[in-house]
Amino acid sequence: MKTRIMKLVLPWFSLPDEVSHSRFAPVTDISMVEGIPADALQDMEEVIKSFSFKANEYYLSLINWNDPDDPVRRLVIPNPAEMGGWGEYDASDEASNTRIKGLQHKYPETALFLVTDNCTGFCRYCFRKRLFLNEADEVTRDYSTAYSYIASHPEISDVILSGGDPLSMSTRRLGGILRNLAEISHVKTVRIGSKTPAYNPMRLGGDRKLQEILSGFTAHSGKTLYLIAHFDHPRELTDIALEELAMYRDCGLVILSQCPILRGINDDAATLRELYSRLHAAGVSPYYAFQGRPVRGNEQYLLSITETYRIFQAAVRDLTGPAKRVRYVMSHSSGKIEIAGMDEKHIYMRYHRAKDPKNRERFMIFNRDDSAFWLDNLTLAGGEQPARKSGLIHSVSRAVFRS
Ligand code: SF4
Repeated sequence: MKTRIMKLVLPWFSLPDEVSHSRFAPVTDISMVEGIPADALQDMEEVIKSFSFKANEYYLSLINWNDPDDPVRRLVIPNPAEMGGWGEYDASDEASNTRIKGLQHKYPETALFLVTDNCTGFCRYCFRKRLFLNEADEVTRDYSTAYSYIASHPEISDVILSGGDPLSMSTRRLGGILRNLAEISHVKTVRIGSKTPAYNPMRLGGDRKLQEILSGFTAHSGKTLYLIAHFDHPRELTDIALEELAMYRDCGLVILSQCPILRGINDDAATLRELYSRLHAAGVSPYYAFQGRPVRGNEQYLLSITETYRIFQAAVRDLTGPAKRVRYVMSHSSGKIEIAGMDEKHIYMRYHRAKDPKNRERFMIFNRDDSAFWLDNLTLAGGEQPARKSGLIHSVSRAVFRS
């Protein structure tokens, strides 16, 4: 017999003093979630076949179920609009940076290691949802070739563990990866990109072995371990999540945070400002605010560049200096590009990281176009065109001009 998720046992975004571990167990059957009408469940069936549902009772309790447009609901509950055929699964052309299965090497110093195709919860706007499709085969189970690649490239000083979410893996598997990276002398920093502190803020607190592994790595490897935490909305910063972040810090990790700016989730300045200031107060530096990628099925979440820039600027205007270090960037196939300014006629951008060395630090001025939401939609002032990823501009432009 199915156990229904009792989302109304607790008032939304409040927490009990005593937290039951069962509240963090994965829930993958959407029909177990109370409050979603039968016809809505039926509409979700097709979506879930392509991109599964995953959350837990704790995270679902953050939703205000009386609000059909609730931001946390939009983040995690499947929506038939995801079936829209617009966009590409690999909008940043990560395939072109893949050197061996599961390992991308785009910038000389940094390797991106896709260690898992699983997550603690599935965000409906995920920019890597291609990894979760049935036919996907990008993530390797055999990490040995990745270790050999990193070991034979002395220019790699920084390894990003991503996926998927590395903290959704077993402690033994994650520990093995950290142990192997600890042995590569030229690797100086390891970053763990994770939304687990938002989805399951008992992951570390409830696992003494993981605490030992992380503390051991930071104390003995001579390397710095970063947690790049992914929080999208201030409501995710519950007391228990803040305690968990403090625990990661106690284990010696440096914590930064990043998130995309998305329609209906965090697309207003007050929400973002609250997110950044509360993270900063918790000792977590906001790091990147991302332009939403034109990924297939994500059209409903995207905002234009000028809209996002306005929201971002208003959000950071009154933050203190350290909190204001956050940068608004686009993860484009050609590099990480900061959207640095805007006026009535132009949008100003600078390569923060460039794939092609000739673009390093390059500053670009584009003709302002309020319907553009990706670099490929813009034209350089003076007539020159930016480097384009073939195919993407066509599909995106079609969507922009469709209405
Ligand atoms: S946690 Fe990250 S990888 Fe996983 S679904 Fe969310 S955005 Fe995608």
